[in-house]
Amino acid sequence: MQAELETLIQTTRLEVSLVHDLTALMQLRSHVLGPKGRLTAYLKQMKTLSTDQRQAVHHAKQVITELLESAFDRVQAQVLEQKLLADAIDVSLPGCGQSLGGLHPITIVLQRIERLLICEGFTPVTGPEIEDDYHNFTALNIPENHPARALHDTFYLNNGLLLRTHTSPVQIRAMREHDLPLNIIASGRVYRCDADVTHTPMFHQVEGLCIDTQANFAQLKGLLTHFLKQFFERSDLNIRFRPAYFPFTEPSAEVDASCVLCSGQGCRVCAHTGWLELLGCGMVHPNVLCEAGIDPERYRGYAFGMGVERLALIRYGIPDLRLMFEHDLRFLEQFKHEIQ
Ligand SMILES: [Zn+2]
Repeated sequence: MQAELETLIQTTRLEVSLVHDLTALMQLRSHVLGPKGRLTAYLKQMKTLSTDQRQAVHHAKQVITELLESAFDRVQAQVLEQKLLADAIDVSLPGCGQSLGGLHPITIVLQRIERLLICEGFTPVTGPEIEDDYHNFTALNIPENHPARALHDTFYLNNGLLLRTHTSPVQIRAMREHDLPLNIIASGRVYRCDADVTHTPMFHQVEGLCIDTQANFAQLKGLLTHFLKQFFERSDLNIRFRPAYFPFTEPSAEVDASCVLCSGQGCRVCAHTGWLELLGCGMVHPNVLCEAGIDPERYRGYAFGMGVERLALIRYGIPDLRLMFEHDLRFLEQFKHEIQ
């Protein structure tokens, strides 16, 4: 019987070495260890066997099981290797013409404004888009029932909070948090409950603030004139400052530039006036300085703000503000190679 078992081991060893796929291996296993398997026949007789014979059967079972397990590992590795070879990726094949994306025109213009102002010595700061009434209005010299509040169609939230209607609340926070003198720009999204051909409920502003003992209107004028000429890349740009009213600055001015599309001759974009309204600016109102804890007898400041969408429309000659928010790739792809 031992000889028979030894022959069974040798036969199985040979058969296992010839197997190259999992199905054949499972069949072989079934022929040896299955219910009607060659070794199972000996296992079924165990009760009638002597101790030596039992040991021989156990030994045969152990050897055959190990043979089948190692064959299983080998065949599995072979199958995996064949699969990998079949799925091999040819990295030398040409690509499928994937094109790179680009920045949105608003982002390009926003970054251009920031870059030019950073060159003038301003540092970017940020603030929350959800503001409280105090920072958005009261601290900016717009107390409750002030008529200027009616000009801001505000999105009110619960608990006295609101979506900021301008980037000016960042000025208040910066004046309270940073040491003087101060040279900051704040840019970002602002919200007004307003939507038509020239207005969207969300738009972008960039605002600048300088607080110093020597800050004056002449500096502000020089800065904005230089900035606008650089922004439009037009050294012959005519700039004019018109008196205006803003609650948080006194005196205040609106800044116009000669129309860059018709060179001041008059066209549809400039409403045939030859001028484009671009910015608001002024000397920071003493009340605003007081609210920020700054002594208006010692420090003075100037501030300016602009709408990014408006500057982008003019710079690229885009006729309709809504194009900026329609996500039409045919429109957006035109700005792919635009530099800031
Ligand atoms: Zn024009």
